[in-house]
Amino acid sequence: MDRRPILRIALVLSAALFAGPMLAGPLRAQPRWPDERQAGPFLCHADFGLDEQQPLLAELADLQQDLTKVLGAAQPRESVHLFLFQAKPTYQAYIQQYFPKVPYRRALFIKARGPGMVFAYRGDDFQIDVRHESTHALLHAWLKSVPLWLDEGLAEYFEVPHDQRAGRHPHLAATRALIRSGELPRLEALEELDAISDMGRDEYRDAWAWVHFALHGPPEATDELTRHLADLAAGTDPGPFSTRLRRRLPDLNRRVVEHFR
Ligand SMILES: [Zn+2]
Repeated sequence: MDRRPILRIALVLSAALFAGPMLAGPLRAQPRWPDERQAGPFLCHADFGLDEQQPLLAELADLQQDLTKVLGAAQPRESVHLFLFQAKPTYQAYIQQYFPKVPYRRALFIKARGPGMVFAYRGDDFQIDVRHESTHALLHAWLKSVPLWLDEGLAEYFEVPHDQRAGRHPHLAATRALIRSGELPRLEALEELDAISDMGRDEYRDAWAWVHFALHGPPEATDELTRHLADLAAGTDPGPFSTRLRRRLPDLNRRVVEHFR
């Protein structure tokens, strides 16, 4: 599968990036979309009929439950608006109209002061894009801040269908190959990154790998990730995840190798 993670983006925007009306723009511009449905915390607005997408919408409704079950996520404080487009040109024109300063991406999560918004069109990786960006949206509706590596690692983890998360994500083979070559996924280096433009294919793989290790590796790692997220939700600075993880698992490198071998 040709996955182009670099083309996806989570934007937490400052007001300066908006050209004109703030969030009210997209939300008011077209009060009646051809199809509008609620799916869990998502309010979906589409310029095409959503009957065919009902399984995807059901997955999105489940996504919040999964985040609650797996990560301890609280119910989101607000709805997320999901804007779906049939065709790329319509999507492009829409983003250009309301967010002219946002660099073009195949799918977007945008949040400023109001509710989060996800935008996607029915391209090749439509379902992956929607799950990926919707994960960002739920994380940002829950946590007061989200470190970039963790934001992307979790979005990568949850972007595939439920039954593929543990053992069939494309990053799994890439991570195993990395370990076989004698390297480890980087964590401390990832924690230093704060610009989405710094995230390339290897960075997405490594971010995913640490999330996978935390969720499917030793219970101590799962516990530390859950505590780390709870701190982020409470707004207390948890410090780097690597610090608490290495403190809890002093033989961390060996455990990671074992996990992916
Ligand atoms: Zn992302």
